Amino acid sequence: MTADYHIHTKMCGHATGEMEEYVVRALEKGLDEIGFSDHIPMYFLPMAERDASIAMKEEELPLYVEKVRMIQKKFAPFKVKLGIEADFAPGMEQTLKNMIEPYDFDYILGSTHFIDGWGFDNPDLVHEYEHKNLDELYVKYFMLVEQTAQSGLFDIIAHPDLIKKFGFRPKKNLDALYEKTVKTIAESNVCVEVNTAGLRVPAEEIYPTFRFLELCRKYNVGVTLGSDAHCPGQVGWGFDKAVQLIKNAGYDQVVFFTEKTKKYQKI
Ligand code: ZN
Ligand code: FE
Ligand code: FE
Ligand code: ZN
Repeated sequence: MTADYHIHTKMCGHATGEMEEYVVRALEKGLDEIGFSDHIPMYFLPMAERDASIAMKEEELPLYVEKVRMIQKKFAPFKVKLGIEADFAPGMEQTLKNMIEPYDFDYILGSTHFIDGWGFDNPDLVHEYEHKNLDELYVKYFMLVEQTAQSGLFDIIAHPDLIKKFGFRPKKNLDALYEKTVKTIAESNVCVEVNTAGLRVPAEEIYPTFRFLELCRKYNVGVTLGSDAHCPGQVGWGFDKAVQLIKNAGYDQVVFFTEKTKKYQKI
């Protein structure tokens, strides 16, 4: 069974298409279920600095939930889960907690999109990589991923090695860094997302890389699937490759979520 748990909506300001169209596409592709996981309001920035082309406004969050609830009713018995992609921001845990608490999310994707305020996955800011020591940058990035797992706020680590997005990779071997991170994720009882968006960017590789996924298998970390769709045509995109990668890493199950409860399903 397969579910696409990483789907955006036009409420984030940089995705297109109606929610209905995403579900119709999922049905066409024969997915067993999907979950919407739009970008959470930018709770970690002062109001004036929040960018409406990156995430929905804070006052729109209730509307987002309401819209997903309507879609759930419309397409039942096909399952549409209520998720959200939430940034981890060190020191802001309570603010995030307060924002998500009123809603019964099925799962929360935990993302790292910023390092010391730098949106490292933003194409407009890619020049910054040239001033960075990549070894140190990767250590910093994976430290944030570990903190994301340890925070207890998230169910799934989204695009676990997003830092490779633009193809800037350290020369040294990353196995020890991966293993330390995966161990922490396993101890935190958090799942890892296998995200096909990496195939559409200069990294040209699914997130996470195969070695990382093998380690996840070794430490019994559950996996979910996600396309990171920002338009209906991307729903379930590249899942044939993702399923193959998961199987090659030794998995025969993926995780489905209902109100934060995990269920393992045969792939
Ligand atoms: Zn997005
Ligand atoms: Fe993301
Ligand atoms: Fe996303
Ligand atoms: Zn994403």
